[in-house]
Amino acid sequence: MSTYKIIDHEYDVVVLGAGGSGLRAAVGLSESGLKTACISKVFPTRSHTSAAQGGISAALGNMGEDDWRWHMYDTVKGSDWLGDQDAIEYLCKEAPRAVVELERYGVPFSRTDDGKIYQRPFGGMTKNYGNGTAQRTCAAADRTGHAILHTLYGQALKQQTEFFIEYFALDLIMKNGQCKGVIAWNLTDGTIHRFRSHITIIATGGYGKVYYSATSAHTCTGDGNAMVLRAGLPLQDMEFVQFHPTGIYGVGCLITEGVRGEGGFLVNGKGERFMERYAPNAKDLASRDVVSRSMEVEINEGRGAGKNKDHINLHLDHIDKKVIDERLPGISEAAKTFANVDVSKEPIPVVPTVHYNMGGIPTNYKAEVLTLNGSEKTVPGLMAIGEAACVSVHGANRLGSNSLIDLVVFGRAAAKRAAELVKPGSAHEEISSSETDKCLERFDKIRNSNGSTKTSELRVEMQKTMQSKCAVFRTEKTLKEGVNQIRKPFEGMKDVSVKDKSLLFNTDLVETLEFDNLISQALTTMDSAYHRKESRGAHAREDFTERDDKNFMKHTLAWQKGKEVEIKYRDVHSRTLTNDVQYFPPKERVY
Ligand SMILES: Cc1cc2nc3c(=O)[nH]c(=O)nc-3n(C[C@H](O)[C@H](O)[C@H](O)COP(=O)(O)OP(=O)(O)OC[C@H]3O[C@@H](n4cnc5c(N)ncnc54)[C@H](O)[C@@H]3O)c2cc1C
Repeated sequence: MSTYKIIDHEYDVVVLGAGGSGLRAAVGLSESGLKTACISKVFPTRSHTSAAQGGISAALGNMGEDDWRWHMYDTVKGSDWLGDQDAIEYLCKEAPRAVVELERYGVPFSRTDDGKIYQRPFGGMTKNYGNGTAQRTCAAADRTGHAILHTLYGQALKQQTEFFIEYFALDLIMKNGQCKGVIAWNLTDGTIHRFRSHITIIATGGYGKVYYSATSAHTCTGDGNAMVLRAGLPLQDMEFVQFHPTGIYGVGCLITEGVRGEGGFLVNGKGERFMERYAPNAKDLASRDVVSRSMEVEINEGRGAGKNKDHINLHLDHIDKKVIDERLPGISEAAKTFANVDVSKEPIPVVPTVHYNMGGIPTNYKAEVLTLNGSEKTVPGLMAIGEAACVSVHGANRLGSNSLIDLVVFGRAAAKRAAELVKPGSAHEEISSSETDKCLERFDKIRNSNGSTKTSELRVEMQKTMQSKCAVFRTEKTLKEGVNQIRKPFEGMKDVSVKDKSLLFNTDLVETLEFDNLISQALTTMDSAYHRKESRGAHAREDFTERDDKNFMKHTLAWQKGKEVEIKYRDVHSRTLTNDVQYFPPKERVY
């Protein structure tokens, strides 16, 4: 479209996103001599990865015996048998190497007395196939994500990755089913940029902001996922949304599971350590879905804490102050700032809060995006990693500290695969203006919206609907109402108003584009949840309380067609890469 000034670029590979996964991929790509661009709508070290507190899992065995097979078993079980075992095997086997690489890049991990990387216990991480607690989560105090992100950004600069910061990516450039690059808007000067690349790697993070109360940053709007839907490709397992047990009551800010790893525990309004009843073995360190559900049951049955009996208390006042100062300094600060609590004297009020999206763009363990229309074919030129992707190592529920390791293992895998597929400096195919026009027409239409509804009104309506109809516990009735109600804010886009028409730091327009991305994911999440008539991992149906392996041990695939969502299923990979380990679900669930 002639009204926009378009600037062209050519790269071997373009990485979309500068969180932990995007930066790890960028470092590997640049190291292998590929000309690499990394595009980010926020300054790289402001990506949500910087908020990760607790740590990164890897069976290093620095603090007691450990084995990647035990890590694999925990991850398969934690996924409630929905994770793909080939990808999980790859993750757990490669994890120790990926963490040692981070250490060599310069991540300032906390240390044991003999100088090794410090590792803490985390929910669901066990020894010897469920017999005892493993110390597997490597930590840099309670600022692990921050430490990793800063280190990787430094490494990417050293390796000469070219950064395009405060560029908002709008859409993928697709031609005959292949990805040829991406179109982005430079927020500072209003120019439009066309990046041509042999491979585009989506690393745009999760979409926590479809919910009203979430631990994620305001920028977590799943823009890459929505681009994939617009390209006619499916998203996978969108119904699996993780609620973290300990978001600060009323504000949603996260209190890491590391607190319970260091000895913190939950009590209800009657002062009972109720987790002993729900998970006699793992207690407060049971996996997140189990703890969140137990808390909801306590609150729903009138045993919550506080005047309104609507939250749970997290105690760490019995933990040695030295341990808190050394290992959990950020937590004391957050509790003081957001709940006005002195953790050495009083408990922190907490409630389950939306935290992580297990679903996303389906890929194989080499990070290549899959089409999945009848068969498992890769989409040439397109990869996805990090929270945006569904590889699927987390299945129906992610274990704490398994995301950071997913970012670096698959960020690294994507770089390796790209180096196999692309010869540095090879020529780019011509693309016609019709491929770019489609994207700019959408941008122009949204920019010139002259309706009467504010974006913020539509956003709140979407968030409240998701929060009340697609929550920790779900039923046919709530989901059916949700499926209808969520279409209202979707239709609302027709009457949206964007008052600011400028192209310079136009937050009104950015938020409207982000809302348009969010609402597509709200639709696919709600519809996927409605169609899964069983309970598995984070998807807890009160009307179908059992896991139904016969009918539902399969991944959901969702395509968006206007306001309709088409649902199909695909098999879980129970095969592994080497087939020397493989796990099958037991009849009874034991936590
Ligand atoms: C509070 C909190 C604590 C957590 N703690 C832990 C933990 O201790 N251990 C653990 O394993 N996991 C933890 N997690 C989960 C984990 O941190 C995230 O899943 C992970 O950091 C996501 O990384 P990412 O690289 O996929 O994306 P992000 O870090 O979210 O980065 C996304 C990037 O994409 C860019 N982007 C997005 N859209 C666009 C666009 N349209 N145009 C251009 N750029 C775009 C952004 O600018 C950003 O750079 C935590 C999560 C939260 C919210």
